[in-house]
Amino acid sequence: MDIQKLLLTQNMFSRPGKKLESAKGIAIHWVANAGSSAAANRNYFESLKNQSPNDPAARYASAHFVIGIEGDIVQCLPLDEMAYHAGAKTYKPEAITAFGHYPNNCAIGVELCHPDASGKFTGDTFAAASALARGLCDKFALRPAENIWTHHQITGKNCPKRFVDHPDEFETFKACCD
Ligand SMILES: [Zn+2]
Repeated sequence: MDIQKLLLTQNMFSRPGKKLESAKGIAIHWVANAGSSAAANRNYFESLKNQSPNDPAARYASAHFVIGIEGDIVQCLPLDEMAYHAGAKTYKPEAITAFGHYPNNCAIGVELCHPDASGKFTGDTFAAASALARGLCDKFALRPAENIWTHHQITGKNCPKRFVDHPDEFETFKACCD
């Protein structure tokens, strides 16, 4: 598996430099930007450093990995650092049970690119994401069926839309990680 490391610059909005406590699960996302590339999404996370710390509308966002529509994988953060991908005002009770009160502390974030607004993933993205998640499960002694989550299952956000619309495809995804 070919992973291109394009680590973000340390900054308060996308790479706070906090240690990931321990990886208790993997959160799957869609980039929600049809046709965008893995590198473009990584560069968006990087660009957040240019925001003013005093801006009340400043955005905090990042993920450990972004997977492109051709199955290319970009790593944005080291696996022992926290990313901002699953933060919310409230969390689902089962997510709090699994991750504690701040899931970003202990969740690996993986963003998947998609060609169009339906959010359907290409076969290459699906295959690369499942191979990556399988490797992460091995590394952190996680079980795909229980420890791979959609962002939706953590916070209720419609993310990734395709797996929210088609839960059977998410089940297939997890099975491919096993
Ligand atoms: Zn998400």
